[in-house]
Amino acid sequence: VDLPIHEAVLGRAAEFGTTPALIDGTDGTTLTYEQVDRFHRRVAAALAEAGVRKGDVLALHSPNTIAFPTAFYAATRAGASVTTVHPLATAEEFGKQLKDSAARWIVTVSPLLDTARRAAGLAGGVREIFVCDSAPGHRSLIDMLASAAPEPRVAIDPAEDVAALPYSSGTTGVPKGVMLTHRQIATNLAQLEPAVPAGPGDRILAVLPFFHIYGLTALMNAPLRHGATVVVLPRFDLETFLAAIQNHRITGLYVAPPIVLALAKHPLVAAYDLSSLRYVISAAAPLDAKLAAACSARLGLPPVGQAYGMTELSPGTHVVPLDAMREAPPGTVGRLIAGTEMRIVSLDDPSRDLGPGESGEILIRGPQVMKGYLGRPDSTAAMIDEDGWLHTGDVGHVDGGGGWLFVVDRVKELIKYKGFQVAPAELEALLLTHPGIADAAVVGVHDDDGNEVPHACVVRRPTAPGLSEGEVMMYVAERVAPYKRVRHVTFIDGVPRAASGKILRRELRARKEPS
Ligand code: ATP
Ligand code: MG
Repeated sequence: VDLPIHEAVLGRAAEFGTTPALIDGTDGTTLTYEQVDRFHRRVAAALAEAGVRKGDVLALHSPNTIAFPTAFYAATRAGASVTTVHPLATAEEFGKQLKDSAARWIVTVSPLLDTARRAAGLAGGVREIFVCDSAPGHRSLIDMLASAAPEPRVAIDPAEDVAALPYSSGTTGVPKGVMLTHRQIATNLAQLEPAVPAGPGDRILAVLPFFHIYGLTALMNAPLRHGATVVVLPRFDLETFLAAIQNHRITGLYVAPPIVLALAKHPLVAAYDLSSLRYVISAAAPLDAKLAAACSARLGLPPVGQAYGMTELSPGTHVVPLDAMREAPPGTVGRLIAGTEMRIVSLDDPSRDLGPGESGEILIRGPQVMKGYLGRPDSTAAMIDEDGWLHTGDVGHVDGGGGWLFVVDRVKELIKYKGFQVAPAELEALLLTHPGIADAAVVGVHDDDGNEVPHACVVRRPTAPGLSEGEVMMYVAERVAPYKRVRHVTFIDGVPRAASGKILRRELRARKEPS
């Protein structure tokens, strides 16, 4: 795996030749492996000719398209570090990322060009904006395919050179640029693939965004490395998603909990033939075991398996192997992958290691731990200690038997009520079992006595317009210890989530706390 990422992923592309690598799930346009291989080399040559040099940061600003991987691997082949950008970012947000990463180049798509131009104007320092499709006055990837420039000969050091510079989701604070080297990303791919093998004949649906490390790994790098076919959707829309599974005979789904929720509960699901599916994997946010079971029972599949990771871990450390989905205990996020160490330490005394069944902070050490946060040595030092242990900020415990990890919640999200700790994720999972509740989020708010108490923000189902605050509180009170009771309820139209599916609790908290 000590190869640049484009070699690690596309090294066998020639062998897969005319196998479809990428299919546009909306119009059926297909790119074969041979095309992706040839195209990314041509675009790399053209980028180098345009002035892209080793170490430059290139911002890739695009929804999922079949051109996305070509742009990504072309940029790394030209020696650039790719910082992926949320396609819905405002010009201000994008401008901050450009500035923070000192990006010199942008690759965007014509519908987002205006935002990209404004962002570049705000940040300064951007030399050129390229487009994947076409737009007057901008060089396009399509033109670049005709480039006669020589292929760039860039000496890449996989151990040191940064391949990707994704920004963390910003769930807990400002998103930070996470420096991931070629080796870190390629090593993590190799660590995960024995658990979730993909190969020719597998058809993976890329509905989660490629710009986030989860989509980038599970939906782009991993399947393309092994000759699978990736069907690409630009965004999540339930009907299009279900139709794509049916029409493209999708075999494997990588999703986040909100999609599991839809698969488990939405009436539309019954109208589609989803019999091609062999497995569903969920990651990025807590998934309730009951919800997972409802989803798999409805689809007639083995239990939904989870994976666990974070941008700073390239991103994976735990996964339920496909061949162990039936034996894995409900609710687990998986088993530790090879070549990685984990400790669980006491929240009160981080020098104390905890045993099986005891919950504490999850610490990770391994070859996939990030190089650091770009330009933030203090944040990096706060995250990775002198012995190389990365402090995840997540609370979990290991089941005594098979080494299965359970993630409770984030350290920062735990609600501390009179010395007790309440995990919002647990209450959210419980609320979702109520037939009248479509979605829910729980945040800690301070009551008049200065205690932090659980506050539920609930989305009613259309079938339960009369569901009251009292009924919701009673439902929880009947099922949890008294200190975990929900003390306030507000009804909202929708739960705000990051692109990775995580609840943006700080946004809800800002609405709740009196200013
Ligand atoms: P920021 O660090 O900027 O606040 P973020 O932590 O949300 O953002 P990501 O790197 O996208 O950014 O998310 C990693 C986090 O996602 C983990 O720390 C963990 O809290 C959560 N997570 C990932 N997988 C799971 C899972 N299977 N179950 C529960 N939580 C998960
Ligand atoms: Mg984080």
